[in-house]
Amino acid sequence: MKKIMLTALVMATIFTTVFGQGDPIAEKYANTITVSDLHGHLSVIASDALQGRETGKVGQKMAAAYIAEQFKSFGLQGPVKGGDNNGFYQDVVLYSAKPGEISLSTKKGKYDNFNGIIYYGTTVTNGAVERDIVFAGAGTEADFESLDVKDKAVMFMSESMRGWRDAAQIANEKGAKTIFILNTPTDEAFDGMAQQFKGFLLGGRLSVNKPEASETDGVFFVKPSVAGDIFNTKYEKLKSAVENNKKIKSSKVSYSLAMNLSEVPTENVLGYLEGTDKKDELLIITSHYDHLGMDGEDIYNGADDDGSGTVSVLEIAQAFSEAKKDGHGPRRSILFMTVTGEEKGLLGSDYYTQHPIFPLENTIADLNIDMVGRIDENHKEGDNYVSLVGSDKLSTELHQISENANATYTKLDLDYTYNDVNHPERIYYRSDHWNFAKNNIPVIFYTTGTHPDYHKPTDTVDKIEFELLNKRAQLVFYTAWELVNRENRIVVDKGQEKEGE
Ligand SMILES: [Zn+2]
Repeated sequence: MKKIMLTALVMATIFTTVFGQGDPIAEKYANTITVSDLHGHLSVIASDALQGRETGKVGQKMAAAYIAEQFKSFGLQGPVKGGDNNGFYQDVVLYSAKPGEISLSTKKGKYDNFNGIIYYGTTVTNGAVERDIVFAGAGTEADFESLDVKDKAVMFMSESMRGWRDAAQIANEKGAKTIFILNTPTDEAFDGMAQQFKGFLLGGRLSVNKPEASETDGVFFVKPSVAGDIFNTKYEKLKSAVENNKKIKSSKVSYSLAMNLSEVPTENVLGYLEGTDKKDELLIITSHYDHLGMDGEDIYNGADDDGSGTVSVLEIAQAFSEAKKDGHGPRRSILFMTVTGEEKGLLGSDYYTQHPIFPLENTIADLNIDMVGRIDENHKEGDNYVSLVGSDKLSTELHQISENANATYTKLDLDYTYNDVNHPERIYYRSDHWNFAKNNIPVIFYTTGTHPDYHKPTDTVDKIEFELLNKRAQLVFYTAWELVNRENRIVVDKGQEKEGE
C-alpha cells in the first residue's frame, strides 16, 4: 500500500515536471512577446500611411522595409544570396494580365468586352478568328452526346458555377475551342455582373508563372439578348429549347482577343536564425504582409488580415533571437518569412516553394499565422480560443506537440472546426500553408476566423484583441520551441489528402 502510494507520488511529480510546469527557459523568452510590442508594430503595419499594402504598390514596399529593418535589428540574417536589402528580400516577379481590345461580332452587331460579353481568358488572337458555334442546351452529357463541337465554339445555359464548370470540361474534352456561358436570366443581371468583372479584371490578374498561350480560346460570358443575336433568334427561344430539349440551328461568330501583360516586382521578406547542432533542418514560420490596398479614398488597413500574423512573426522572431544571444539558440534553424501576394492567390508562398532558399526536404514544418487578432461569430467575448487547421494531417507528432504546448503553457481552447477538409470554407487550402502542405511538409495554420470587418476598410487596429493575440502568438512560439529543440525531427507518417472541390 505504502509502496504504491510512493510510486504514485513519484509519478505525479514527474508528470508535473514534464507537462505541468514547462520549461522555464522557454517561458522566459515567450514572455518577451508582449501586448505593447505587438501594438507598436501593428500601429505601423496597419497604418494609413501604408495604404493597405497592396502587392507591388508603394505601401507594401514600405511594409517590407519595416519588416526587414526589424529582422535586422533582432540580429537575424538575410538568407537570400544576391537578394535586395542585404538578402532580406526574395525578389518575386509576378505577371499582371489585363484584358486589351476584345470584341465579338455576330450577324446582328459587334460587342465590346463588358458590354454584352465578358471575356475570361488570356488568349491573344492577332486579328479576328471566325468559328462555327453550336448550342448545347444545359450542357449536360446528354446534351453533348449528338453534337460535333470539335474546333468549334459552344454555348450552354447554366446558372450554377458547378454546372458550367462541368459543362465546360465536357466541351473541352470533346475538342471545343471556345466556351460561351449563358448564366444570367436577364440583361440587367448580366450588366450587373459585367460591372463586377470589369473592376476585377481591369485591376490586372496576377500570376507567378507567365500566362502561356493555351490550346483553347477561353470563356465568354454572354448577355441573354446577345446570345439570341448569335443564333439569329431571341433569348426566349433558347430558353424554351433548353426546357423542351429542342435543337437550335448552329451559327457563326467572329472575335478578336488581346491582352496587356506586364511585370509586377514584389518581394517575400525573409529573416534567418541559424541553429546549432541540427542547423541543416529548418522550421519556417509564415504570415502574409500584403493586403487589399485602396479603393478610391478607402484604405483597407488589414489590421487583422494579416497585420496580426505579421506582428506575431516579428515578436516570435525577436523572442528566439533574444534566446540565442543568451546562449539558448535553437538546435534547428528557423526561417521567419512574411510573404507577398496572398490576397492575389497565395502567390508569394507559391513562388517560395517553387524557388526555395533552403531545400524543402530539410524543411520540417511550416507554422502559418493568418488573422489571429479577433473573435469570430462562433465565439463570444471572453472566449479564450484559437482555431487550428492541418496539425494532424501529415504528422501525428506535430499534432501532439501542438496540443502539449497549449496544455502546458497557453491553455487556449483549441477549435478544430475548420480542420475538416470537407468544411465548406475549405480553410486547409486557403492560406499560404497549403503551398507547403502540398509539398508534403507538415503545417499548422493558426487563425481566429472571419468577422464583419473581414476584407473591409474597417479592419483596423482599434478592433484587435491584443491580450488574445499575445497568447496566440505565444502558442506558436512554444510549439516552435519544441519543434526546433527536440532530439528527433518530427516524422511525416500520413499521406496527403488531395485538394477537393
Ligand atoms: Zn485576406
